[in-house]
Amino acid sequence: MGVLALSTIRKDYGETRAVDDVTLDFPEGELTALLGPSGCGKTTLLRMIAGLEAPSRGTIALRGRDITQLPAHRRKFGMVFQNFALFPHLSVRENVAYALTIGGTARAEAAARADRLLDLVQLSGYGDRRTGQLSGGQRQRVAIARALAQEPEVFLLDEPMSALDAKLREEMQVELRLLQQRLGITTIVVTHDQREAMTMADRIVVMSAGRVEQAGSPQDIYRWP
Ligand code: ADP
Ligand code: ADP
Repeated sequence: MGVLALSTIRKDYGETRAVDDVTLDFPEGELTALLGPSGCGKTTLLRMIAGLEAPSRGTIALRGRDITQLPAHRRKFGMVFQNFALFPHLSVRENVAYALTIGGTARAEAAARADRLLDLVQLSGYGDRRTGQLSGGQRQRVAIARALAQEPEVFLLDEPMSALDAKLREEMQVELRLLQQRLGITTIVVTHDQREAMTMADRIVVMSAGRVEQAGSPQDIYRWP
C-alpha cells in the first residue's frame, strides 16, 4: 500500500470526461511521472490530488485516511506550477516563507527556514532579491523551495520544465531528481515528454484519454531492443 491511493477517480466537465476511473497507488519516496499527450487528463488528475478540483466520483486516501473532501490548504501538498506562479512583489525569501507566515510561524523562524530551503536549492544569498531579477532556472528553484516549505508528504509538479530552454531543462531534471532522492519525498511529476519521464522517474504512468494505459518502471515501459 502506497502513501497515496486513488480509487476509481473520475472528473467530468459537462460532456467531457477529463479523468475516467483512475485507480493508482503511489509508493513512499518514489517519483512517479504521469505521462501522456496534451488533453489526456494529467493536470486534472494532479489538481484533484492537490485538492484544487473535486472528483466527480471516487476517493483519494493518504496513508489510509480518506482525504477526498479535505480542502487543498489542509492537505498541504507542495505544488510547483508550470509558470512557477511566484509572487512578484515579494522577495525570494518572502516567497519561500509565505505559506509558513500565513500558517502562523513566527516571522524570524519562517525566514530562517526559508534560508535553509534556499541553501537546499542552491540559492544561498538570493533571499533579498526580487523574483523578477532571477533567471528561469533560479525562479524554478524558488518555486521548488516554496513548495517544500511546509514539509509536505506529497510533492506535485505540473510540467515543471516547460518554461525552461532545452539545456537548462536537462540540468534541472537531474537536479530535481537528486533533491527528491535526498529528501525521500513522494513525488508526482506531470509531463508530456517521454525522455523527461525516463530521466527522472522510478515509475511511469502512461495516460491516454483520461485513463491509465500502462504503469511500471521505465524499463518495463520502454524495453530496448
Ligand atoms: P495543459 O494541457 O498543460 O494542462 P491547458 O491549456 O490544457 O494546459 O490547461 C490550462 C488550464 O486551463 C488548466 O487549469 C485547465 O484546468 C484549464 N482548462 C483546460 N481546458 C479547459 C477548458 N476546455 N475549459 C476551461 N478550462 C480549461
Ligand atoms: P493534460 O494535462 O493531459 O493536458 P487536462 O487535464 O488539462 O489534460 O485536460 C483534460 C481534458 O479536460 C481536456 O479535454 C480539457 O479540455 C478538459 N478540461 C480540463 N480542465 C477543464 C475545465 N476547467 N473545464 C472544462 N474542461 C476542462
